[in-house]
Amino acid sequence: MDVVKLWQGANAKGYNRHAQTAKKGPDLGPASASGQPEASGASHSHSSGSRLSPSFSGDDLCPSCRRNGRVYCPHKPMLAIKAELAAPLQKQDFFGPSPPNLFVGHYGWPSVNWGPMVSMAEGIPDNPKDWYGWNFDQIVRARSMQVRGQSKAPVGTAAIPKSPGMGREAPVSRILRDSQEAAMSFSPIDLEMHFSKAPKMAVEFHAIHQPMGPSAPLEKLALADNPRIPNKVDELVEEGVKAQNAMSELAHAGFDEHYLVRLLTAGVLGRPSSRKLVPTRWGITAVDDTLAKQHMEKIRAMEQGSSFLLFFNEYLANRFSVLLMPGAWEYEGFETWTGPMVCPNATMVNLQAGAESQKCHFSSFAISEEYEPFQGRTAYANKQGGGYYAARLGVAEAMAERLGRQYRALVIREIMPEYDLPVGVWEIRENVRHAMLNRPQKFDTMAEALVALQAQLKLPLREYQTRSRLLTQKRLADF
Ligand SMILES: [Zn+2]
Repeated sequence: MDVVKLWQGANAKGYNRHAQTAKKGPDLGPASASGQPEASGASHSHSSGSRLSPSFSGDDLCPSCRRNGRVYCPHKPMLAIKAELAAPLQKQDFFGPSPPNLFVGHYGWPSVNWGPMVSMAEGIPDNPKDWYGWNFDQIVRARSMQVRGQSKAPVGTAAIPKSPGMGREAPVSRILRDSQEAAMSFSPIDLEMHFSKAPKMAVEFHAIHQPMGPSAPLEKLALADNPRIPNKVDELVEEGVKAQNAMSELAHAGFDEHYLVRLLTAGVLGRPSSRKLVPTRWGITAVDDTLAKQHMEKIRAMEQGSSFLLFFNEYLANRFSVLLMPGAWEYEGFETWTGPMVCPNATMVNLQAGAESQKCHFSSFAISEEYEPFQGRTAYANKQGGGYYAARLGVAEAMAERLGRQYRALVIREIMPEYDLPVGVWEIRENVRHAMLNRPQKFDTMAEALVALQAQLKLPLREYQTRSRLLTQKRLADF
């Protein structure tokens, strides 16, 4: 499977270390997750960006987080969830609507941990697209409520031999087949899982891992419903169409990235004899890449835009500025991680309103830059990993589907110190999508556009200009 080879190069560091901060959203009790994405599809006005961060008081921090200089403590909400789940987690049998999903880890590849997931709470949407607007507590909660079966197998276990033997199927492949059917189902179906012991919940948090729910070795799996598999998917799977081509066709047919990731991850696409389980992380990047490439093909044939358009959005302390400039398609992405604010008259981290007027500055920052020319890129975007592909998809789909013109695209992601826990690249994809839905500022000249860009950036623009391949002096002289 081509896509798998492509993404094997993605190392652990490539994945973004995302975390989050609080923002409005549904009060996500186990039963009350309406899952309505806040302001989804709405066109809200340009935000000035002065409301930099939600308020965090030192009281919210556990001793360990205080010691480590964290801004947000995930441990307290996590302990509360753990207490709440103590009773339900004492059993070994689980029955529930599976957000028909499958998790495949990447550690130890090509031998991986994989398993289906069942939600212990009703009504939590499985598609992170619907999580946009949620705060960290709500996201941790949604993740924690999914109990996950664990099996270990080589990724090639998804392959179907050319001449199947007559013997009984090995237990692993039977669990896999049922998991695959669940993952292919377009709507949730009930799953019964039996674990060899009661599932355990990890409370540790890592800088680069997303929070996960409880898990235990899976002994038995049964589907309590018939999976609802779209005809188109059934056809492509039956015909053994190459994974890359199958994904393109399904994207054309309107299936979204979340569903495509499930299919790819579950190893149901491609020639039967070479099917593989694909680690979830790599699958997400492969799908973001495939979808964006499809849009980029269209974009390259479009007329060139004539104005400068500046978009902005902020979510989970991630600030995205997207500047579209007249010219043929090119793409440059910046990613900036910032250290805590230092203020002359304050002794502790202070990002509350007013901090900026006190001439505060970041104690440190790290900027990475990735670029691709008109023709696209051939090497994996190592410096930013999956985040690069998620952001590029958001820009490319807006250009191809709504703007109808091609531009040179500059994307700057500034990550505030509050974002010190990972939530996943969906945050980047949805953040950029929402930026592109916001009304842009429009300018006739580069000079005007750059003044406005600086106004919404937290770092001096020159930090980007000196590293940029799109904002070079020669280029600036063109305008
Ligand atoms: Zn803590």
